[in-house]
Amino acid sequence: MRFFNTMTRAKEEFTPVHDGEVRLYTCGPTVYSRIHIGNFKTFLFEDILVRYFIYKGYKVKQVMNITDIDDKTIRTSRQRNTPLKEVTDPYIELFHRDRKALHIIDATNYPRATEHVPQMVEIVQKLMDNGHAYRAADNSIYYSISSFKDYGKLAHLEINTLQSGASGRVASDEYEKDSISDFALWKAWDENDGEVYWETQLGKGRPGWHIECSAMSMEYLGETLDIHTGGIDNIFPHHQNEIAQSEGFTGKTFSKYWMHSYHLMVDGAKMSKSLGNFYTLEDLEKKGISPETFRFFVVTNHYRTSLNYTDEAARAAGKARDSLIEFVDRVRNIPDGPDKFDVGPTIEGMFREFEAGMDDDLNTPQAIAAVFDMTRPINRAIDEGKIGTLGRENLLKAIEKVNTVFAFLEGSETTIPEEVTELMKQREQARKEKNWAMSDQLRDKILELGFIVKDTPQGQRVTKK
Ligand SMILES: [Zn+2]
Repeated sequence: MRFFNTMTRAKEEFTPVHDGEVRLYTCGPTVYSRIHIGNFKTFLFEDILVRYFIYKGYKVKQVMNITDIDDKTIRTSRQRNTPLKEVTDPYIELFHRDRKALHIIDATNYPRATEHVPQMVEIVQKLMDNGHAYRAADNSIYYSISSFKDYGKLAHLEINTLQSGASGRVASDEYEKDSISDFALWKAWDENDGEVYWETQLGKGRPGWHIECSAMSMEYLGETLDIHTGGIDNIFPHHQNEIAQSEGFTGKTFSKYWMHSYHLMVDGAKMSKSLGNFYTLEDLEKKGISPETFRFFVVTNHYRTSLNYTDEAARAAGKARDSLIEFVDRVRNIPDGPDKFDVGPTIEGMFREFEAGMDDDLNTPQAIAAVFDMTRPINRAIDEGKIGTLGRENLLKAIEKVNTVFAFLEGSETTIPEEVTELMKQREQARKEKNWAMSDQLRDKILELGFIVKDTPQGQRVTKK
């Protein structure tokens, strides 16, 4: 497997730190509002990454943090005059609900920042002791970027534009590339923080955002991770700062690989609340776009392309997914019998192309195309009545396997209820007796149950409405 490593700007062969195991850290949601679909583009990329590692037989340890304290969560808590936890808890619940609707599999841990403050304090203390951090006049503690010789490497920053010391200091969690400077590790309490503070050996205050991820990743995954991921917005300053903190603390490489997913645009523009194109899954569902459709739209595009969301493009993806589901239904409905067509070479060819794509920096468009390519010769063979019991079972096994990565069958009712099967039997009998009125009546009954019957040379075929 080869992945594009943001650190080196090159595709590199993947070799894990620990044999057969992947330790993956994925920056999680900041829970001050409902998560928008742009964030879910990143989480879906990570889901495909995890699922493909599992497909390849790796044991995956994935940690996704929950940022339940930072500038934004505190601001929201102040604006609503509501305790921090009462602001963040409902959004954490909503995040998990949306995540499950998208069939994103569970991470090993979802640590919350507010529950890991002692670990953050320990790192900051050591960074002060070894000269990477200092206390400023405002009583907050800053990371001295000039003390870290590789500062700027991940983000490919020009080192001579760096400002450090009293002239260049930034207290806020988020800032732009033109204000590269010493950043806050520990923020001394001020009245804007209200009730939110910890009394620690560093003084009364709260952690900066970047230190949270250094602490939680190392707590659960050890000092050197295999892969650290996020959206490209995270490269600077967030991930750059995580490296400075973690490596300043351990003296070891923090993460072997860095992978970043590109932006999701909406109708050709960057998502923003002012443009009214800031969508959640709920907004999409109001337009009739299901989480499964959105998932298929995102995961069948490459994670390193800026993806332009339009309702039309999402609906087209939904139709493509429907046609795959219909294909699976068709295979399931192949009656028992002898095989006159060897499905083996078609399946092997599909897996070869599928894995060649996935192994090459998660080329999901190539991988899904391999699955669609398989449907054509198989559909022909089904039309000609050449596939029997063995072919059917082997095809279903192959589909099941690719589905563990793409999860396109999840949420579809590809199993036919018994009631429908019974009506189909009655209809078959009616047709044998040339009782067309009865046949039509039964077809309507089946339709009422949400299934469409088609008559083919091989008999009746049923698909979900
Ligand atoms: Zn993070």
